[in-house]
Amino acid sequence: MSHTDAATDDEPDCLTCGACCRTGHDGRILIPDEDLVRWRRLGREDLTRAVQPGHFGLVGFATRPDGACVHLGTDHSPHACQIYEIRGTTCREFERGSWQCREFRREAGLDAR
Ligand code: SF4
Ligand code: SF4
Repeated sequence: MSHTDAATDDEPDCLTCGACCRTGHDGRILIPDEDLVRWRRLGREDLTRAVQPGHFGLVGFATRPDGACVHLGTDHSPHACQIYEIRGTTCREFERGSWQCREFRREAGLDAR
């Protein structure tokens, strides 16, 4: 979800990963209401519709049949976010190299340095 800059020796590379954007089909990547408001203001109602029911009464990003977020994958990388500049708060706050990041990578069969 973070998809931040190039990796350092100590941190995994988001552009060869995308594991945190492939969390399954149950709306686990939550979208706070403020994101929906922000996207409406930007004229991106399409984003407000690309959701599914999530936990805690919120909505989450809609997922493709393979469980990946519908916004994952660009012409440049299958692991990059199409809406990176205006991505969700949950995505923005997710920390590359954190224990959750490493857990996602481990579950995806990637190294978990
Ligand atoms: S919006 Fe982008 S960063 Fe967030 S889960 Fe989807 S693909 Fe990942
Ligand atoms: S799991 Fe970690 S390394 Fe992989 S895309 Fe997400 S933040 Fe980046």
